[in-house]
Parts: sequence; C-alpha cells; structure tokens
Amino acid sequence: MLLIQCPYCQEDRPEIEFQGAGEAHIARPANIADISDAEFSEYFFIRDNTKGIVFERWRHTHGCGRFFNAVRNSISDKFIMTYKAGEPKPELTEEQIKAAAPISKKPAADKPEPSPSKAEKAK
Ligand SMILES: [Zn+2]
Repeated sequence: MLLIQCPYCQEDRPEIEFQGAGEAHIARPANIADISDAEFSEYFFIRDNTKGIVFERWRHTHGCGRFFNAVRNSISDKFIMTYKAGEPKPELTEEQIKAAAPISKKPAADKPEPSPSKAEKAK
C-alpha cells in the first residue's frame, strides 16, 4: 500500500485518503480578464506532463481536507516529499532523486541472462 504523508496531519496515510489535483505552482495571471483566449488556454489547460520528477497538488480528501504539494517520481510513483500549499518549490538533493528513481528492470527476454558466476560477483 502506498503511504502519503499529509504535511498538515503529520502522518503517513493510505493513498485512498488522497486525491491528485494536477500540477503545482501554476501562477494565475494577475490580469486574467485582459488576456487573450490563447493565453487563457495556455494557463488553464497546458501542463508539462513531465516524465520523472513532478511537482503536484494533492488533497487529503478523506482526512483534513486540505490541499498541499508533493514531489513525486512519475515513473516509479515514489513520493520524495510533501509540503504545505503556498511554500516555495523545494530544492532536491541527489540522494532524494536517486531514492525515488525506478528500480532497474531485469534484462529483456531476448537478451541472455548473466551467468550465475557473474550474478554472484555482483553481490
Ligand atoms: Zn491531512
């Protein structure tokens, strides 16, 4: 079961208590009534959809109900950290990024398996 830490409740809770709410740190234009339809479309609909490290909004729907931000690896689905809404984008360390990286896959079926002696040496 995937556990997500709510930065308000300060607890690791099951993912079924949470709801993803899209990309974080999207700044609403100050002059939104004056922008063109194309500019509004860009602000409202266009997202980075990054493969890898993503900054997202989440809501603790079945808990405190509050919105917060999370940093997650979209490939491995591992959460790196969560932080309160309104806080700046955190700087990530190499260790944090590596810890959330996906586990390497085994060699494909058409590739030869390493011999047992090589596997033993790798340990
Ligand atoms: Zn909460």
